[in-house]
Amino acid sequence: MPIATVNPATGETLRTFRPYGPDEVEQRVAAADRAFRHYRTTAFGERAALLGRAADLLEEDVPDIARTVTTEMGKPVTAARAEAAKCVKAMRWYAHNAEALLADERPAGADVRDSGASTARVHYRPLGPVLAVMPWNFPLWQVVRFAAPALMAGNTGLLKHASNVPQTALYLEDLFRRAGYPDGVFQTLLTGSGAVEGVLRDPRVAAATLTGSEAAGRSVAAVAGDEVKKTVLELGGSDPYLVLPSADVERAAATAVTARTQNNGQSCIAAKRFIVHTDVYDAFLERFTAGMAALTVGDPMDEATDVGPLASESGRVDLEELVADAVGRGASVRCGGRRPEGLDRGWFYEPTVLTGVAPGARIHREEAFGPVAVVYRAGGLDEALDIANDSPFGLSSNVWTRDASEVERCVRDLEAGGVFVNGMTASHPALPFGGVKRSGYGRELSGHGIKEFCNATTVWQA
Ligand code: NDP
Repeated sequence: MPIATVNPATGETLRTFRPYGPDEVEQRVAAADRAFRHYRTTAFGERAALLGRAADLLEEDVPDIARTVTTEMGKPVTAARAEAAKCVKAMRWYAHNAEALLADERPAGADVRDSGASTARVHYRPLGPVLAVMPWNFPLWQVVRFAAPALMAGNTGLLKHASNVPQTALYLEDLFRRAGYPDGVFQTLLTGSGAVEGVLRDPRVAAATLTGSEAAGRSVAAVAGDEVKKTVLELGGSDPYLVLPSADVERAAATAVTARTQNNGQSCIAAKRFIVHTDVYDAFLERFTAGMAALTVGDPMDEATDVGPLASESGRVDLEELVADAVGRGASVRCGGRRPEGLDRGWFYEPTVLTGVAPGARIHREEAFGPVAVVYRAGGLDEALDIANDSPFGLSSNVWTRDASEVERCVRDLEAGGVFVNGMTASHPALPFGGVKRSGYGRELSGHGIKEFCNATTVWQA
């Protein structure tokens, strides 16, 4: 895949980049290693000042970088601005909270006395240079979600960003440099995915994090496993969205539209499978379909656009094949199901609702990375949970109900890294984010995220 900015709204190649050669990669890995030796000893206050400055600079840059993001991957510019603003918030959150999150833990004296210790504590130390392999769908947020905690913990970062967002990748390196970070603390590696294995096998690289497809995650985890290096994987999702009889159906349907189509439908935590109790099925389907059909599809630079193009031509082909397969196996198209008229140049696809999807259809088990929703009818909560868990993925989940016992049942039984009740899944700096099953392992954000790339060191004293 060439490293290039190709505008998904027009299909036009705007800029191509020469990938770094082995020497340039080597220089950057060496710089990350050198930087780590000093940066690991810096005080939290110093790191917080740097991250705070990066947040201030990003805040000033929001309008410009949002346009770059939209040009490279096609999300509505309003959403790109919101993404940049969310990064500012997360940077400030970690600048403010990292020291407390990584404070020494001291087990009560009585608990460790029988080990012969007079005192014992757990001290969190950084691991070293961490390789971050990141996707294009939230090209700022996915990186900041890694970098803010990793750098606050004292690690250094090497970013291998997706090949279709090179300008955003270079912007991020420049942002940290302008904020005053020492050379080598945060660098972009402008390379294709073929260079990842070599970097990961380099003894100076301590660990890796990857957000992206299952295939990419499996490949990185296999190499890291061979090298006995820590990884965090945030892979795909096909989140269930349960609507039960006591739900506010109006709100559930309106939120479902946003939950499915945010980021042009290309979000790992988008709700993708809508599992609706038969008592409210018709009411939900009617409102949801009307909401999906009413969305404005068009130029993502237009402030009024709800849904822009898919990020790549191949992404649209994948989506079209999933829909065709489902229809071939008997599914009904309630709205959409085709390319919109009059938008021939870009990779647009109409918001689509499918019903009657057979369990053998690919979309029943595969992730639909675009604005395509599948609505299932369930006879009761047991059946709804069975459908929800009949997926290789387990990222997040949503349930709409006013019944507290149903909430507890879902918290107990939904196989996912999150259960969002009467709302849609969204990430927040203070809440852990990640999944189970084929959605990956490890957690980002919160105290859980910052500790992933730390050495929890036991300090025992006689
Ligand atoms: P990929 O997983 O291919 O890309 C994500 C990142 O991984 C990119 O930086 C990519 O580099 C890199 N990469 C890809 N293959 C390898 C590999 N074998 N070894 C090391 N690094 C690799 O995502 P796609 O863009 O191809 O999207 C495909 C599907 O992945 C989507 O349809 C969706 O289902 C899922 N996806 C999930 C995301 C999420 O947020 N969880 C985000 C993006 C995609 P390069 O760009 O150079 O190939």
